[in-house]
Amino acid sequence: MIRSRLYSLEPKGIGTPFVESVISYITRLADKHRVTIHTLLNYELIPELNKELSCSISPKLFWVNDNLRKLLGGYKYSTAIIKVLEKLTLRNDLFYVNLANVIYNRKSIVIIRRRRAWCPECLKESEKSGYIYEQLLWTLQIVKCCPKHRIYLQHKCPRCDKSLPHSSWRGKNGYCNYCGDFLGQYKIKNEADETDVEVSIKIEIFLTKLKDLSINLCQITNGIRYIIDQKFNGNCTDFSNYLGLDRFTVYSWYGGVCIPRFQNVVLICNIFNLDIASFYNNHFILKDIQECEMIKNKDIFQTYKAKVNRKLTDEEKNLTRNILISYLNRDEEPISLNAITKQLDIDHKILRKYFTSECKAISLLYKNYRLNLKQKRAQILHDEIKNIIIDLNKQGLYPSFEKVMNFIRSRHCSYGGTDSVRIVWREVQKELGMYY
Ligand SMILES: [Zn+2]
Ligand SMILES: [Zn+2]
Repeated sequence: MIRSRLYSLEPKGIGTPFVESVISYITRLADKHRVTIHTLLNYELIPELNKELSCSISPKLFWVNDNLRKLLGGYKYSTAIIKVLEKLTLRNDLFYVNLANVIYNRKSIVIIRRRRAWCPECLKESEKSGYIYEQLLWTLQIVKCCPKHRIYLQHKCPRCDKSLPHSSWRGKNGYCNYCGDFLGQYKIKNEADETDVEVSIKIEIFLTKLKDLSINLCQITNGIRYIIDQKFNGNCTDFSNYLGLDRFTVYSWYGGVCIPRFQNVVLICNIFNLDIASFYNNHFILKDIQECEMIKNKDIFQTYKAKVNRKLTDEEKNLTRNILISYLNRDEEPISLNAITKQLDIDHKILRKYFTSECKAISLLYKNYRLNLKQKRAQILHDEIKNIIIDLNKQGLYPSFEKVMNFIRSRHCSYGGTDSVRIVWREVQKELGMYY
């Protein structure tokens, strides 16, 4: 029989939404071996990680700014640590303890909390069962409350009032890293908000489906497009207004340039009443999408506004250029550059800096269009006044300026002020040989 190098410790809560996090698992594993988490990482896990990734990570890496959260998803270590743990414990069910396959890129690491959060009631329950563990659910920024106990998660040690890192050298699950107090012994009274509970429940369901999920970026784009096409007739602006999102963000999602972050996917799923896993797999039907209330709180979405106003990535540049070109080539009446910057929600300075020639072309197109419009209007006014004067003449009446003006007003012509009418009035009389 092959023996595993480390205890083949069973992760807590597997197959349930209350599965433990990889950090909690490593902490328990260290505890089982009667070593500190620091020792386990340094002497067992990191050498294996280095083999797995053929690199040399310094053990210090995970303790600087609490980089331990990199093990939870979004980094190469996140997938590798699971392989390493499975190899050393000879288990095959550790897949669930982090979010490596949900967090598709480094930027998405923001969905993981920087500091620890916990539900005191859940900690109390796990203490009674003999093994204190911390849930993966709690590591997610978007999860504000415990779906089981419907109370808000705690962020500060009630005794020393400090916010806690995910772990420390001698970290213990369920205990404060500083004063060593048990974090589950205090009662929280206030109930969580219904919306917050709903979001937590959505994620809770999602975590049980992790294993069958393979996230394909195209499918996320398809899901977004599907909603926009079916529900908003393909109009990105309507969709962005509906959700209170930045327009440019939606354009870039629709164009597949940016992928909505997990956080935003969760909120979109919540608004359209979709299951998160089925959204990722594109296995949702539109019947599920119900009419929902306009979202009042716009801040819940993380918009890319700030990013757009800074520097544009190559992809964003390409997308923006394509949008600008489409404005140049469309059949509808041209719009001003100012209106475009408002629609795209980009600072006009940035637009002019990156897309000088396109911006010039758009401005010129709009200028010519306006000029053309002006000339047309002037021609119409000219013709109108001429007709009036000829009519008055036929009736044997003197075409005084007041009479012409009255006609112009009664016919609701756009005349651009009395002065312009007076000029045209003189011109026409000259033309007809009546002016002296
Ligand atoms: Zn709880
Ligand atoms: Zn404390």
